Amino acid sequence: MKKYSVALSLLILIGAVYWSFEALMPQNYSKADAPANEFSTERALTHVKAISQEPHYVGSEAHKTVRDYIVSELHKTGLQTEIQEGYTSGDWANLSKAVNIITKIEGTGNGKALLLLTHYDSSPHSSLGASDAGSGVATILEGIRAFLSEGKKPENDIIIVFTDAEELGLNGAQLFVNEHRWTQNIGLVLNFEARGSGGPGVMLVETNGGNSELIKHFAEANPKFPMGNSLAYSVYKMMPNDTDLTVFREDANIEGFNFAFIDDHFDYHTVMDNYERLDRNTLEHQGSYLMPLLHYFSKADLTNLKSDEDYIFVNVPVFKLINYPFSWITPMLVIAWIVFIVLFLFGILKREIGLLEVFKGFMPFLLSLIICGIIGFYGWPFLKVLYPGYHDNLHGFTYNGYFYIAVFAFLSVAICFSLYNKFKEVKTVNLIIAPLTIWLIICTLVAVYLKGASFFILPAFAGLASFYILINQSKPNLILLSLLAFPALWILSPLVQMFPVGLGLKMMVAATLLTVLIFGLLTPVLGFYKRKGKLALLAVIIALGYFIAAHVESGYTPDRPKPNSLLYVYNADTGKAHWATYDISIDPWVSQYIGENKQQPDQKDKFSSKYNTGFSFISDAVLKEIKQPEIEKGSDTIINGKRHVEICINPQRNINRLEVFANTKRIDQLEVNGIPFSKEYLKKREHKLFNHQVSHNMYTDIKLVVPENEKIELTVYEISNDLLSNDRFSIPPRPKNTIPMPFVVNDAVLVKKIFKL
Ligand SMILES: [Zn+2]
Repeated sequence: MKKYSVALSLLILIGAVYWSFEALMPQNYSKADAPANEFSTERALTHVKAISQEPHYVGSEAHKTVRDYIVSELHKTGLQTEIQEGYTSGDWANLSKAVNIITKIEGTGNGKALLLLTHYDSSPHSSLGASDAGSGVATILEGIRAFLSEGKKPENDIIIVFTDAEELGLNGAQLFVNEHRWTQNIGLVLNFEARGSGGPGVMLVETNGGNSELIKHFAEANPKFPMGNSLAYSVYKMMPNDTDLTVFREDANIEGFNFAFIDDHFDYHTVMDNYERLDRNTLEHQGSYLMPLLHYFSKADLTNLKSDEDYIFVNVPVFKLINYPFSWITPMLVIAWIVFIVLFLFGILKREIGLLEVFKGFMPFLLSLIICGIIGFYGWPFLKVLYPGYHDNLHGFTYNGYFYIAVFAFLSVAICFSLYNKFKEVKTVNLIIAPLTIWLIICTLVAVYLKGASFFILPAFAGLASFYILINQSKPNLILLSLLAFPALWILSPLVQMFPVGLGLKMMVAATLLTVLIFGLLTPVLGFYKRKGKLALLAVIIALGYFIAAHVESGYTPDRPKPNSLLYVYNADTGKAHWATYDISIDPWVSQYIGENKQQPDQKDKFSSKYNTGFSFISDAVLKEIKQPEIEKGSDTIINGKRHVEICINPQRNINRLEVFANTKRIDQLEVNGIPFSKEYLKKREHKLFNHQVSHNMYTDIKLVVPENEKIELTVYEISNDLLSNDRFSIPPRPKNTIPMPFVVNDAVLVKKIFKL
């Protein structure tokens, strides 16, 4: 084996990894001088900028400003708009009044319509909503402008809906799907979303049936950077989903595609979801989906996109979106096992394979899996001990999270190299047997339990080809073997990053295990490397370098601010008040109010929050004069053995939200502001009854039906997000290296009142 071929093969392997990431999304973006009929990211950015000036959640002042902006931009393209307004009970009992913006480009034919979908509200209360979902609004506005600039008419109607109150409970989507006259005729939805501020837009199919027709048409529409795979599709199908598109699928059996970017999750729902931080190439990627799909599906027959059959699909450089039916899974698996066994027997006959050697070959592979598995599993808890501030990052993905992924990936590589170095007397042909066996076992398991992941067989086939070469040639061409590692590197390396990015750093174990599994598939090449010890050392040094980089970025700066929280809670029944926070690691700003005097709360009510976060600490506070809500009892009558009660809550100050908890166990019926809540919800609900995101200090009218002798006890929390701007308080401004913690009621003044009937 010539020295330079070792170096060259290593470069090829590294190049393939690099390529696999480069090919996921555009690496530059279109400028303002792009032709009028093309999507321009720079033009789209002007919309993002206009939308993301202020938080624009339901009930906020900027909410209407953003709506007016979108309407006027639509009018500029010559489209008529319609506003749909109404209360819905929302997902998770989040009542709110949504105001949807709806428009239509009339088609020349009479087929089903294509729907372009995104939401324009931002998340309460601090998010600027540049990515979520300003990017979606901008993508659609710029896309239809480009589409209409040619003056051509589409064959299918193109309906465009900018929903409202998505962030609260998908209320706008519920309102549209269940009440709008156009729902009946929709054939397909393209939904644009964001769960971070960068990275590739991931295509996720949403369907009640199989995906085969959707995938075939998607591949035929030929977007430039198709990014998505059936593993995510299968996982997504098993989890409870909550995008606007889910409402279309569940309530109206309408399917479609989500295009959502999920990188830089730490910006999600925070004030850092701003114009500057939205990755320009990400916006380009969203546009690069919309344009070809808009042209394609505005002509395609949208009546027959339903199917019972599922397809495997995965994005691969050069080949774009590889796809084939689920029915191929078993034959491919059987062929792979047969080829493997035949080659194995053939190798024994040829005396290339020795059983003891094979056994020894299992050692470094299994040990690597075990050690890297343990390191990956305990990695995140260990980091939280080193850096307690990470507890307050509710996203579970820190600003330096990408460095940590690199640390653990290189550490895994180092462990593999050093263990394989201990077994360097084992011939390469015997080393490949362990990883191939484990891969085929994994492929067999996913063929049963997680069919969408069955594209894992593709790298295994390439591994079998290498196995064949190794049996037949004692001095194989290392370059050829490196090329046979491409399927493993192209398909699997982005997944090393995707798992912790998608599911949080707590899933680091997926990254370390996958790194070992990929390493195993590279043994046909790496087995020939003489200096494994040196390579192990090099990998450790690189891991260490990334760890130092992560440490340098572990502090809090205006670019990487620490999320914190502060609330003032006034108990109107006891006449006492206290400060409260969710923070585990208390910073100087919070400690002005909750410091030495902090106590553990005995708080029963947890306000609606994404991760069910409760107060960590409270402290006594000086009483301020805060107006209580007026609670008026209306009728209270017994009808057919049931007690019917009406209560109206009227705010006496500027509020954003009302959370109502009920100690009453059995509630047979609930209606709030005329909107009934489902029986299923009332059965499964626990302490919380509902919450109402209040627009314009609207009243909350509650009608309850309970068993005749049931006592009613409601705990009402009236919430205003004005703690920092309220005249009665003089809270110093938040330091620049902190931001309001997302996903929880924060920067708020709360009034608690118990109401018994
Ligand atoms: Zn969103």
